[in-house]
Amino acid sequence: MSAELVRAARAVQQRAYCPYSKFPVGAALEAVDGRVFGGCNVESASYGLTICAERMALGAAVAAGARAFKRIVVATDAEPPASPCGACRQLLAEFGLDLEVIAVGAKSERRWTRSCRRASVDEGAPGGVARGHARGWGGGGVRRSGDVARHMP
Ligand SMILES: [Zn+2]
Repeated sequence: MSAELVRAARAVQQRAYCPYSKFPVGAALEAVDGRVFGGCNVESASYGLTICAERMALGAAVAAGARAFKRIVVATDAEPPASPCGACRQLLAEFGLDLEVIAVGAKSERRWTRSCRRASVDEGAPGGVARGHARGWGGGGVRRSGDVARHMP
């Protein structure tokens, strides 16, 4: 299923609308019933209005009636693969803390399980969600458009 999810995330990544960051992101979220929901980032000239791929996928899933999820693949061209931002982790955590997160980058892949532990306000910083929990969350940093430079070679 993982390979299929990666393909789905890569496919939707191609449709990202990211004229400002030039950082396309695709997400494929697998519900417990097997359905897969895709999302890509959609940017705005007013940066704060930008929607991440992960939250877009989650919104599509909820709109279709899905409420329980197994895993999400987040595809970028970054290396190391970029992890979901704090806002996305928080929203994913709303629907359960056992989500497996797979970040796929240009050359490698990173996985976290039980990684969507609810973030408190002071844990909202990059890596904060992982503190004492899933290793490596902070490695890729936050992936909002304003932080793209950190991920580019
Ligand atoms: Zn995000």
